[in-house]
Amino acid sequence: MKIFDGHVHTPYCPHGSKDDFHKYIERAIELGLKGLTFTEHAPLPAGFTDPTPQQDSGMKLQEMESYVARINDLRHEYEKDLIIKTGLEVDFIEGYEHESRAFLDEYGPHLDDAILSVHFLKSGANYHCMDYSPDVFGVLVDELGSVQNVYTHYYRTVQRSITADLGKNKPKRIGHMSLVMKFQKKFPNPDINKKEILDTLDLVAEQNLQLDYNGSGMMKPLCREPYPSEWIVKEALKRHIPLVYGSDAHSAKDLGQGYGQLMKEAPLTQPF
Ligand SMILES: [Zn+2]
Ligand SMILES: [Zn+2]
Repeated sequence: MKIFDGHVHTPYCPHGSKDDFHKYIERAIELGLKGLTFTEHAPLPAGFTDPTPQQDSGMKLQEMESYVARINDLRHEYEKDLIIKTGLEVDFIEGYEHESRAFLDEYGPHLDDAILSVHFLKSGANYHCMDYSPDVFGVLVDELGSVQNVYTHYYRTVQRSITADLGKNKPKRIGHMSLVMKFQKKFPNPDINKKEILDTLDLVAEQNLQLDYNGSGMMKPLCREPYPSEWIVKEALKRHIPLVYGSDAHSAKDLGQGYGQLMKEAPLTQPF
């Protein structure tokens, strides 16, 4: 499995496992990975209140320095065995572009690689963590009126993330672009929002961004396919969008997840 995993969480994740870095790295070497980027959930933008019950969606701002230093040490320790890069999975939250940009201006120079993801959707004056649970997804369906409206709103938010001015350290890769399908078996969408999806891909290509080809959806009982689905990957390839495999592992044993179910012919690249 000579591939690069561009989406790996760490013990700094407040909602993931406490597996330490060595456990992830040893497992990556065992799998024969070429390298990986640690992409912890960045601290949420200043002033944003995490709507999840445990308020544990992102790492703490006070831990950023130690996070970066720790990965730098590991990079040297494992120099001969594995490429290790420092990254983050940064949330795009509508209305907090300014705060995200300020964060990236400050910490971006310490990163080799980063992902930009949409997990939070604005609905009226509130925000919901769309992928938190089927119940929260159901609340969004009620508030926005239909499953299709949730899809439309999600893709428009992803489009805003692609065109947002987040400064010169803006992440170059869009995370799990079809995350809205996480609970598709419970909330089928009669219309697949093809137009919004193709528009999103056009923007990704236009902005020269990469896509996180994320295996974790395969493991979700109500999704059972990678993010994004095969037909979307084919459309992405027509537009020459680079695809970077992401396991989105939140524990060492999840490294490599979903890889076997990705489209066989899809060329996977390293993020740099
Ligand atoms: Zn996570
Ligand atoms: Zn994510």
